[in-house]
Amino acid sequence: MLHDDDSLFVDLGPRSYEIPIVSHQLAGCAKTFEHWWYIRDGMSSQFCPDRPPQGSVWAAERRQVDKPYGLIVTDSHVALSHAGTVRDALLADGWRIETITLPAGESSKSIDLVEQVYDKLIQMNADRRTVVVAVGGGVIGDVAGFIAASYMRGIPFIQVPTTLLAAVDSSVGGKTGVNHSKAKNMIGAFYQPIGVFIDTATIDTLPDREYRAGLAEVVKYGVILDADFFAYLEHHVDAIIARQPDVLRKIITQSCRLKAEVVEQDEFEKTGLRASLNYGHTFGHAFEALAGYGQLLHGEAVAIGMVHASRLAERRGLIDSSITTRQIELLKALHLPTELPPTISLTTDDVIARMRLDKKSVSGSLRFILPTKLGTVKTFADVLESDVRQVLEHH
Ligand code: NAD
Repeated sequence: MLHDDDSLFVDLGPRSYEIPIVSHQLAGCAKTFEHWWYIRDGMSSQFCPDRPPQGSVWAAERRQVDKPYGLIVTDSHVALSHAGTVRDALLADGWRIETITLPAGESSKSIDLVEQVYDKLIQMNADRRTVVVAVGGGVIGDVAGFIAASYMRGIPFIQVPTTLLAAVDSSVGGKTGVNHSKAKNMIGAFYQPIGVFIDTATIDTLPDREYRAGLAEVVKYGVILDADFFAYLEHHVDAIIARQPDVLRKIITQSCRLKAEVVEQDEFEKTGLRASLNYGHTFGHAFEALAGYGQLLHGEAVAIGMVHASRLAERRGLIDSSITTRQIELLKALHLPTELPPTISLTTDDVIARMRLDKKSVSGSLRFILPTKLGTVKTFADVLESDVRQVLEHH
């Protein structure tokens, strides 16, 4: 399917998919979604064993009589706006489509809510060809993806991210899941969507604080993978804050491209490459959890976490202080926090204990992704607790 705007392709063999990055085209999404659905359906022998494999003639014939059946999963903040646009577009194209609206916020990433969506799918008589369309931020993408991964052992799934964080991070790469009452993202599956439709105009309605939180992940890509991109961000701060459309599209496209390249090489987080995307997250997850979810947004915690990780790299002699200073200045210019606010006071012992619980830690050891220069990071599994303490206590 051709798009006038930017389009990326995540090359994962039979699990490959497109990511069109467009502006003001959500109302025209139906043909793209249908195309993805037909291609994926045509490639699978599971649904119709005697069909010609990838047969375009067959697909074209069937297209006349067979329209997709789908469930839009969305949240209460975007149900009427962006999810409504998607629903109207799909209905106008002849889809049979239903919608389920979950409460906005992290609490929807729970097994209880998943069960409600299973109920809805069963009530719809959904089968393996029914497509789940996630319209929302990272919460909706994660939970809807998990439902798609597990309902009847896997049904097609499309992501329509509407937050910056979801557009640049969570919608790409196939990590899906929900929280356990004792641990975030503890239950889940790797399950790739059949397509990710990013319309930058959806970001226009995002509250400032949520938008800025997404920018933390954008800065992260610059630090870990692309020094030129980091410099681009430094030079376009005003346009980024103003959500200037061209600049917004550029930062989303480059972030997705960088993430896609990592995912292509390490889809299941086996080699350590994908783990590098967690720069700032070991500190960040601990701050986020201990402050109480909702006190610090994920991106805010990651921003503070990146500064801590960078200082840890300085202590090890990996980088000089100018690299930390550049990160602090860029994050501040983007109105992101670089240290815990005075209202949140955490003890060093609690932070360290929490970091050991992080599911990325191995046997309770402290592992960190640290920069070795701007645009390059490495994983260090031998970080001394005393160094971590110093970083937590002396800055
Ligand atoms: P979110 O989904 O809670 O969205 C943030 C808020 O913005 C919510 O209140 C939502 O209703 C609202 N919102 C969404 N789109 C909007 C729009 N266009 N206009 C106005 N309001 C809008 O949070 P998030 O920051 O998008 O995502 C955070 C989640 O993503 C966390 O659960 C995190 O674990 C997960 N995550 C997953 C991955 C992954 O690889 N799967 C990566 C990073 C984060």
